[in-house]
Amino acid sequence: MVSYKTLVGLLAVLFCAQAVCGITIISKSEWGGRAATSKSNLANGLAYAVIHHTADVYCTTKSACITNLKSMQNYHMNTLGWADIGYNFLIGGDGNIYEGRGWNVLGAHATNWNSKSIGISFMGNYNNNKPTAAQISAAKSLLSYAVSKGQISSSYILYGHRQVGSTECPGTNLYNEIKTWANWRA
Ligand SMILES: [Zn+2]
Repeated sequence: MVSYKTLVGLLAVLFCAQAVCGITIISKSEWGGRAATSKSNLANGLAYAVIHHTADVYCTTKSACITNLKSMQNYHMNTLGWADIGYNFLIGGDGNIYEGRGWNVLGAHATNWNSKSIGISFMGNYNNNKPTAAQISAAKSLLSYAVSKGQISSSYILYGHRQVGSTECPGTNLYNEIKTWANWRA
């Protein structure tokens, strides 16, 4: 017997994926990323989403973004010793959404906040780069989709990394942008 809640959740995901959100996520296997060496579960119904920047190369084509993703993943895994690329999802300067750790996998993006949030990172350094309309739209769609999937609560609070840690992340240009989004809180 499928519960009403499960059924509604399932319908929301199907409906959102096909009709409302119009969201395309480039999966890790599509961009040629390595499998995680281990995974921990990330709960549903999270109260927070945290926006980051990679403070790294800004890419404007899919192929350049993929090159950057691979080197970032190698850095996170080989040099930092992490199980995978740190973020749950990344937004390229090309406007594409790239899967990092993905849904329901604990990230490594914001100390003390990883189990309470999903981490979405804009690729580039947004003290200098400016988020494009395509990137902003992609991030908002991803957040709406995350709500429809149940990964984050519909009343989730959006923070920039600098609000929960001692860092310039996600860069001043991006931080000023997300401050205008409905779920952002001071
Ligand atoms: Zn950050």
